[in-house]
Amino acid sequence: MSESFDIKKWFKNPEELLVISGPCSVESREQLLATAEGLSKIEKVKVLRGGIWKPRTRPEAFEGIGEEGLTWMQEAKERFGFQTMTEVAVPEHVELALKYGIDVLWIGARTVVNPFSVQELANSLKGCDISVFVKNPIAPDVKLWLGAIERLGSVGLTNIGAIHRGFSSTEETPYRNAPVWKIPVELKRLRPDIQIITDVSHICGCRELLQETAQKALDFGTKGFMIETHYNPEIALTDANQQITPESLRKALNKLIIKKVKVDADETILNNYRKEIDEIDDELLNLISKRMKISEKIGEFKKEHKVTVLQMDRWKSVLENHINKGNNLGLNEESVKEIFEIIHKDSIDRQM
Ligand code: PEP
Ligand code: MN
Repeated sequence: MSESFDIKKWFKNPEELLVISGPCSVESREQLLATAEGLSKIEKVKVLRGGIWKPRTRPEAFEGIGEEGLTWMQEAKERFGFQTMTEVAVPEHVELALKYGIDVLWIGARTVVNPFSVQELANSLKGCDISVFVKNPIAPDVKLWLGAIERLGSVGLTNIGAIHRGFSSTEETPYRNAPVWKIPVELKRLRPDIQIITDVSHICGCRELLQETAQKALDFGTKGFMIETHYNPEIALTDANQQITPESLRKALNKLIIKKVKVDADETILNNYRKEIDEIDDELLNLISKRMKISEKIGEFKKEHKVTVLQMDRWKSVLENHINKGNNLGLNEESVKEIFEIIHKDSIDRQM
């Protein structure tokens, strides 16, 4: 690990993939130092994370070691040259983290949902030159995520990053917090200045999905990772199922295929495909516009004959038909459904 790594420099020039790792919770001096020692052998890991105050669902669970753990973080920083990072949820956490020389803070998914809490944190950070990462809120709401980033920006913080850690979902998924890639993509579109990294540990909730999820994140242009590690994950007090050993992390990082944003070679082939896509998109837009005009005529007819705008039987059969046709064309069923739901909603709105 290069000793001169400085997160502030990374924010200015985020060329290199940022790898943050360390235990879910700081449990003991031995546990933190053993884990940090393992991580110090991985050149790519620059920031040591460790939860000092843990937001737990039920109150009887381990809620973090508290202030004492910060002294161990400081020791790990001095011994191995890491930058250190912890979660803050209330101003008192900020005060203590600063007192013990923590370099980077993150605001957790449960805190980001509450603008009052985020504002209090922002107020307590006013005038500090510290780097802060904002995890996505547990609900897939890009505005709430954006709002938290704006609150931190408005007190003068300049090194603000975002962490995609997946979202709660009522649907059954193999993930603990299912990734919704379009949300970080939208955040990046709205705020190209904000670097987004991916917390694959809290997305997956298990070790088995980590590798493929990390690769997927790279394909979506992630600028780095947060991955939980423990020298002995089985005995971890929190998130035992998803933590990996530093050695497994080293192997996983080596297996990743790092993708570039720009092609080095001649881009003619790619540009020709893009031209074709642009033409097809044009056609699609023209067709949608044509469809909406017909839909408006149908709306007039319905008004004249006093029939309801929403015709459930017709909608059901349209959707079923399109899904079947889509299936035959090798299209993703969920996507076809979503596309037509949006088109149908727009048609209905026009007829109201
Ligand atoms: C964590 O990183 O340990 C954590 C609690 O994360 P999240 O806020 O994403 O649940
Ligand atoms: Mn955790």
